[in-house]
Amino acid sequence: MTHPFRSQFPFYNSANSSNVAQSTIYLDSAATSQKCKPALDAMNEYNLYYASNVHRGGYKIAQQATKKYEAARSTAQSFINAPNSKEIVFTSGATEAINIIAAGLRAEHLNGKEILICESEHHANLVPWQMLAKRFDLSLKVMPLAENGQFTDATLEMWLGMITINTAILACAHVSNVLGNIYPVAKLCAKASRMGAISVIDGTQAGAHIAIDVQKIACDFYVLSGHKMYAATGIGVLYGKYNALESLLPSKFGGEMIRSVRWDSSDFQAPPLKFEGGTPNIAGALSLAAAMNFIVENADAIHKHEQILYKELLAKITSVSAINVLGNVDESIPLMSIDINDIHAHDMASALAQQGIALRAGHHCAMPLMDALNVEGTLRISLACYNDISEINLFIDAIKNNIADYDSGTETLSKQQFIDNNALSIKASLQTQFSTATGWNEKHRLLLLQSKNLPLLAPENRVDSNFVGGCESSVWIDVYNNQLMAYSSSKVIRGLLAVLLSAINETLSLKDDNSETTNLVYSTEYQLAYLNSLGLPMYFSQGRRDGMLQIAKRITQLLSKI
Ligand code: PMP
Repeated sequence: MTHPFRSQFPFYNSANSSNVAQSTIYLDSAATSQKCKPALDAMNEYNLYYASNVHRGGYKIAQQATKKYEAARSTAQSFINAPNSKEIVFTSGATEAINIIAAGLRAEHLNGKEILICESEHHANLVPWQMLAKRFDLSLKVMPLAENGQFTDATLEMWLGMITINTAILACAHVSNVLGNIYPVAKLCAKASRMGAISVIDGTQAGAHIAIDVQKIACDFYVLSGHKMYAATGIGVLYGKYNALESLLPSKFGGEMIRSVRWDSSDFQAPPLKFEGGTPNIAGALSLAAAMNFIVENADAIHKHEQILYKELLAKITSVSAINVLGNVDESIPLMSIDINDIHAHDMASALAQQGIALRAGHHCAMPLMDALNVEGTLRISLACYNDISEINLFIDAIKNNIADYDSGTETLSKQQFIDNNALSIKASLQTQFSTATGWNEKHRLLLLQSKNLPLLAPENRVDSNFVGGCESSVWIDVYNNQLMAYSSSKVIRGLLAVLLSAINETLSLKDDNSETTNLVYSTEYQLAYLNSLGLPMYFSQGRRDGMLQIAKRITQLLSKI
């Protein structure tokens, strides 16, 4: 069967020289999407045939570039049904767009003392408001979700009740990047407007999947991100009602955004140029407009295809008893977060990565939501129009197999099993096992088995003073009776700790304070080199490697005290 959209995505082109695409099942489109051909062509054409700056030169290609750039603005205007193209500001992304709003607000804009944000908000639509709250002495209030990240009728009632005359700003995502929930932003904005509050809607995850009409939503501001909607990175949109943009202070000063400059003062352009200081991302804006046209032209077919994929994924995933689907499954884009019984999301993501399945684990830039859901992180599957059913089937098979692997990896191996008849040390035995294990699957299995041999730090000793910050999963390490003990919420990391600690504890048990080996083992570099010699770090993500460095540093620090 020919895929309805793949021919429009060069990533999937069989001539893709890297060939990685052929073996990658890409389920991480919420992090960034693959780029559609029209978006790539638009960028290339600009760079190849009429590269020149906008709004400045009178020569032909400069006029062409300016015309195309302004036409891109009009495309963005109609994409979200904004009344006027002057209400469209090109930014570097959603984060910059929200920062422009937060930095540009003054005390006289704020009719209240509270900023209301939704519990699933991305840090991009949270941290700028924390900073603003500090600047103007406002309080940040969170609109909570129901259990399991659900948005229900009761949730809506509660949120509407929280929007009062004390509300200065309502900041809410149109779609949650963690849960996929589509929020009824028009209802929220209507109440905010009646209460005199400013409404800011983060449409980053909406753009590629649902139709957006800012006049129907009636928000003051709406932001989009190009790289989540089949366009380039480094481009986004800030929409604001013209009056709102006019009264907002610019925060990026320089060329392009000024009308006239004297030594002692300057006048600024009207919106949108007032917010586009410096040379804008011209190629990016053109790519975004082309991607928007692609989305609009195929909107119905994209929606239909994505819903088929999402329903298939949902039906298959809910049949796996160990998996809990978080958030709403009806009013949702084709994205879901899952929590798997006793399996850390990072462990599953790294196992899947080795099997060619690309998806994201962790807090997804929504740390407070993780606390509310009482999970350390989730595994997020995010689909786009270029995915297909066979990928969903392969993903489901892989996740089921990995869960089974985890369960079978629970047998306990005694330390003695690692010491052979010739009385090889544990360290030497492990070195042999890891170096003969080829590929991630075998090493992964060894780690799972090893996790049972970790000298476990008791639950009551997993306290802040023993906590190792900077790891993707929770890790605690301490020393008791000259032996290191540890715990991690991730089984893979427990395995890794078991391997590392057994080597160190073995040296410590020799109690040879002056030995060179002992001093060597104490060093962070040695510990990392040891793990490298087992061929482990190469299989880990950067986040996990950073965590390993923190673990080794903590061990060195602990050992220096005994
Ligand atoms: N908001 C949401 C909901 C997001 O998912 C993201 C990206 N993960 C952002 C904001 C930030 O977008 P950008 O990368 O364009 O700054």
